[in-house]
Amino acid sequence: MITDTIKRFVGQLFNPKKQGVQHIGREKHGIDRRNVSRHAIKVCEVLQHEGYQAYIVGGAVRDLIVGLEPKDFDVATNATPEQVRALFRRARIIGRRFQLVHVVFGQEIIETSTFRAPASETQSTDDHGRILRDNEFGTHEQDAVRRDFTINALYYDPTSEQVIDYHQGVDDLKKRVVRMIGDPATRYREDPVRMLRAVRFAVKLNGTIDPASKEPLLSMAGLIENVPSSRLFDEMLKLLTCGHAMDCLQQLRQDGLHHGMLPLLDVVLEQPGGEEFIELALDRTDHRVRSGKTVSPSFLFAALLWQEVDLQWKKLIKQGETGIPGLMQAADAVLEKQTKTLAIQKRFSSDMREIWFMQPRFDKRLPKSIWRMLEQPRFRAAVDFLQLRAAAGQFDSVLAQWWMDLANADDDTRATMLDDLSKLPREGSGTGPRPRTRKRRTGPPRVPVDHGNAPTI
Ligand code: ATP
Ligand code: MG
Repeated sequence: MITDTIKRFVGQLFNPKKQGVQHIGREKHGIDRRNVSRHAIKVCEVLQHEGYQAYIVGGAVRDLIVGLEPKDFDVATNATPEQVRALFRRARIIGRRFQLVHVVFGQEIIETSTFRAPASETQSTDDHGRILRDNEFGTHEQDAVRRDFTINALYYDPTSEQVIDYHQGVDDLKKRVVRMIGDPATRYREDPVRMLRAVRFAVKLNGTIDPASKEPLLSMAGLIENVPSSRLFDEMLKLLTCGHAMDCLQQLRQDGLHHGMLPLLDVVLEQPGGEEFIELALDRTDHRVRSGKTVSPSFLFAALLWQEVDLQWKKLIKQGETGIPGLMQAADAVLEKQTKTLAIQKRFSSDMREIWFMQPRFDKRLPKSIWRMLEQPRFRAAVDFLQLRAAAGQFDSVLAQWWMDLANADDDTRATMLDDLSKLPREGSGTGPRPRTRKRRTGPPRVPVDHGNAPTI
């Protein structure tokens, strides 16, 4: 760790950009106060009224400056978590590694954290230099040093409408450059997730990673394996739901960072048709995110891993296994392998199974069993998933539309649809992946597939 300290010292000595703090006015940063959460403003005002420093910080400031809508608003202050909690009616202290306060206003939570001291030798790290605990409070300037990128270390004071910038983050943001604060290799070692964040922000901003911050990525990518799998899951989810998922994945592959993340994804992308299916899934997700709709993690991961499940399923069927039990076995095998690196939480994986297991049931349209299917909580998501399979040529598109119409219909229309169905000759050849055949049109008049009409869960 001594070498890291020396490196950082030398880095600072020779870093020509290391200058003092800048107070940037509205004409330069361009943040319109009306776009700032009034709850975040309220938290800052209450704290400032009590004599504390308080700023909106991080992603919200970055996004507001480039004209994107922030996902959420965080506040940084020199008040301790206890002091913050005492000032708000609905506030709770959370977190073990570093305590922070959630100040709750109806649906909105303003995450309020106390200025943190940067990494030091007294902090405990694992054998690879990853920080395990950092509990020290610090000054405003120190808080800026411990943030990851210059563009994420901007502090907006809603009272003076100034942005406090210790690391020329506003300049970098205008140039759309993602630049690590401090020595990049040291900072990636402290927390390898920063590598993934660098890629995500560069893609999201349609910018680049500063060459010095990019250089260590390839050689250090392996450190991602040491990150706890639950944290990796959270980061992967952020990446997949940032509105530019496909670009991020492509960039990760280019930077050699994709291996530790979704090991099966690699295999999948190399299978015939694999890339197309994932592209379709991510494209739909990106559209949903960009039009402000919610995205279901279960649906997304069900889609990402489907090709692999489907492949294993087909193999088992060839070995003589029957339809649904074969699918269950395939799902178990894929999920087990996956969970070693990326902890997919149980509540998500059980939804994923439900989505997958309903797929063969769409082959046969038996009115009696359809009523039972309609009662399943993941029916809607499973039908959405079927649209994806149809778009990828894995399922008859007319039939997929019939299921979508059924999912969208009210009970009376459903009854009529099922009644019409019972008058038709029996269909469906049973379980197993369906060959690409066109079916005779049944059901209500056809409407185009609504690509934006993806999962509602
Ligand atoms: P987004 O919310 O769009 O993913 P963000 O920048 O707000 O982006 P968060 O994970 O919400 O990201 O973190 C808030 C802020 O906390 C960041 O802007 C950054 O200043 C700091 N931060 C987050 N993760 C790290 C990290 N791994 N290392 C150092 N600083 C971090
Ligand atoms: Mg954020």
